[in-house]
Amino acid sequence: DSRAADRTVDSVCPYCGVGCQLTYHIKDDPEHGERILFVEGRDGPSNQGRLCVKGRFGFDYPNHPARLTRPLIRRPGVPKGLDPDFDPRAPLTHFREASWEEALDLAAGGLAALKSAHGPDALAGFGSAKCSNEEAWLFQKLVRVGFGSNHVDHCTRLCHASSVAALMECIGSGAVTASFMQALQADVVILTGCNPAINHPVAATYFKQAARNGTKLIILDPRGQALDAYAHRSVRFTPGGDVSLYNAMLHVIVDEGLFDQAYIDAHTEGFEALKAHVRELTPEAMSPACGVAPEQIRELARLYATADKAMIFWGMGISQHVHGTDNARCLISLALACGQTGRPGTGLHPLRGQNNVQGASDAGMIPMVLPDYQPVTDAQVRAAFEELWNAPLNPTPGLTVVEIMDAIAAGTVKGMYILGENPAMSDPDLNHARKAMAKLEHLVVQDLFVTETAQFADVILPASAWPEKDGTVTNTNRQVQLGRAAVPLPGEAKPDWWIIQQIAVRLGLDWDYQHPREVFAEMTQGMASLDHISWERLERESSVTYPCPANDAPGADVVFSEAFPTESGRARFTPTRPLPPDEPVDGDFPTVLITGRQLEHWHTGSMTRRSRVLDDLEPEPVASLAPAELVRLRLTPGEHITITTRRGAITLKVRVDPLMREGMVFVPFCYGEAAANLLTNPALDPVGKIPEFKYAACRLERV
Ligand code: SF4
Repeated sequence: DSRAADRTVDSVCPYCGVGCQLTYHIKDDPEHGERILFVEGRDGPSNQGRLCVKGRFGFDYPNHPARLTRPLIRRPGVPKGLDPDFDPRAPLTHFREASWEEALDLAAGGLAALKSAHGPDALAGFGSAKCSNEEAWLFQKLVRVGFGSNHVDHCTRLCHASSVAALMECIGSGAVTASFMQALQADVVILTGCNPAINHPVAATYFKQAARNGTKLIILDPRGQALDAYAHRSVRFTPGGDVSLYNAMLHVIVDEGLFDQAYIDAHTEGFEALKAHVRELTPEAMSPACGVAPEQIRELARLYATADKAMIFWGMGISQHVHGTDNARCLISLALACGQTGRPGTGLHPLRGQNNVQGASDAGMIPMVLPDYQPVTDAQVRAAFEELWNAPLNPTPGLTVVEIMDAIAAGTVKGMYILGENPAMSDPDLNHARKAMAKLEHLVVQDLFVTETAQFADVILPASAWPEKDGTVTNTNRQVQLGRAAVPLPGEAKPDWWIIQQIAVRLGLDWDYQHPREVFAEMTQGMASLDHISWERLERESSVTYPCPANDAPGADVVFSEAFPTESGRARFTPTRPLPPDEPVDGDFPTVLITGRQLEHWHTGSMTRRSRVLDDLEPEPVASLAPAELVRLRLTPGEHITITTRRGAITLKVRVDPLMREGMVFVPFCYGEAAANLLTNPALDPVGKIPEFKYAACRLERV
C-alpha cells in the first residue's frame, strides 16, 4: 500500500497558539526521499486528538518547489525592493547561490562593519513567534551580546503586546491566568474581540462543548461569527467602541453593587479610584459610542458579575488598537471587581496567536525586557544575565517593530538580521515599511522561501521547517511542548539554531552548542518560569505547564489563587477613558477597514499558501462585505473593488458575508497580490506600541 507509512514521529502543530499535539506519518519514498504522508491529532492536553484544517493539511509546505536549499547572495547592482514580476519558481535573477562559508562571512561581516562604524544601536533583529523557544533565546542573546543592542522584537508587537502590557501592569504577569479548558467549568464565558472558530479552531470546540453543557457564552465583537450559533448573547458593538462598552459594564457593576467586596479587599488595590472614575460612564452615556443599548449593557454586566464562575477570553480585535492596552485594562478590572480569577472556571485569557508567541516572548525576544519579562533597566537583572552569558549588557530598552522601521527610515538603524519574520507583508503602512527596508545598508534574512522580506535581503540563509527540527514551544495555556524532527532538511538547508550560532561565532562569541537541549538547559538557569521543566522530562511527557512546583508535579492550570506576582501581592485596577480611533471615518473615507486571518491561511501566508490543500481551499484575496454593502455598491459577489486609505490602495474580489455589519469591510492580510497592510494605519498604542490594525478609514469603489 503506497499510503502506508513507514514510521511515525510525535510533534506539535506549527500554526496557532492552541498548540495541538500531532503525529506525522512518514513514508520513505525511494523517488522523493522521506516525506510526510499525513498527520493525525494526538491526545495532547490542549487538543485531545483534535486538529483543524491547518493542522491536518498544512504539512507539505517544506516540500514546495520554491523551498530554499542553498544560501543566496544579492547580485551586485540589483536594486533592493519587491519585484512585481517575482516568480519563485523561475530561476533567480536578483540573487546567486553561494557556499555557507561565503554567505555566513558576508552576513556577519556586514553586521560587524556597521557596528564598528556606527555603534551597536545601528543594528536590530526581528525574530519570529514561529521560532522555537531555543531559537528565540539564542536570537535575542545574539542581538544583546553580539550586536550590543536591545533592538530585538518579533510579531508579539503586532499581536498581544498591549494585552501583555496591561496584564504586567495590573496583575504582574503577562501570561493567561487559566487555560481555555477551564471554560468547561465556567458558568459564563465572555469572548470578545476574538473569533476562535477561525483563529483558534480547536479551542472553539471546547467553547462549543462548554455551551452544550450549559455555560452561557457571551460574544462581544463588531463582526458576527460561527460561535454565535452557540451563544447565550451575541452583541455586535461599533468598531472602536470597546472601551466605552466595558466601562459602562463596570459602571453597572459598581452602581448595582454587584462587585465582590471580600475578593477586592483581599486581593486588589485601587478599587475606590475605579469606582469614582466610572461613576459618569453610564450605559446611557456610553451607548452612542459603542452602539449597544443601555438595557443590553446592564444585562451583560449582570450576567458576568452574578455568575459563580466566569472567564474572559480576548483576541486581536481588542489588542490591535491605539487603545489596546486600555481595552485589556478594562477586562482585567471586570474580572478583579467580580472576583473572577484564581479559581477553577474563572480567569483572564488573551488567546495567543502564533504557536510560540508565548514562548518567544518568555524567552526575551522583546526590546525592553530580558527573559521572563525582567526589565533591561534593572541593574540586578542585568548583572544576573551578564554572569550567565559572560558579557556586558546594554541598559537602554530597545525599539519596537514599528519604531525600528521608523529608525531605518530616519537612517539610524542601518543593518538587520530577520529570522522567520515577514515585515514586508506584516507591518502596517507597507509602502513606508518597504521603503525603509530598501534603505538598509545590510539585511540578512533567514527563512524557508524568498519571502517578500527576503527580496530586500543582501544575504538569504536557508533555514529549517518545523517538521525538520527538535525544539520546544509554549502555547496559549502556558504548556511547554516538545516538537521532534520528523524528516531531514532538504539540500544544504540548516537548523536555525546552527545558523544563529555561526553568525555569533563570526561576531566573536565563543558559542558551542551541539543541540537545542543544551540551549534549553541554559534557559532553565535564567528563567524561573521553567523551574522543574527539563528537556528530558519533555521527552517523556511531551508537555508540562508552567509554573510547575516539582519535577513530578503537573503544572498549574489556574494561577494566582493566593496572591498576584506584584510587589504588594495585590492586583491593581487601572481606570481608562474612552478614546476615539486614531483615524475616524469621514466623508472621504467613510468605511471601517478591519484586517485579520482566515481559517485556511496563517499570517502572511508564507507557509499555508505553499500548502496545496490550504491554497486550493482559499486561493485568492477577497474582501468580505455585508449584503447591504454589495447592494449599495451595485456589486455581485466575485466582482472587484478597489479599497483605498490615506496610505495606499488594493484591488480584489468581493465576497458577501452576512456576519459583517454595514459600513465595514474585512480583508485578510496573507495575500501579497492584494496586501492588506498597504492600507493599515501605523498609529501606535502608546503603552503596548501595537499598531491599529483593527480600524482604518477607507473608501470602497467598484472597479
Ligand atoms: Fe494547529 Fe491551531 Fe489548528 Fe490546533 S487549532 S491544528 S494548533 S492551527
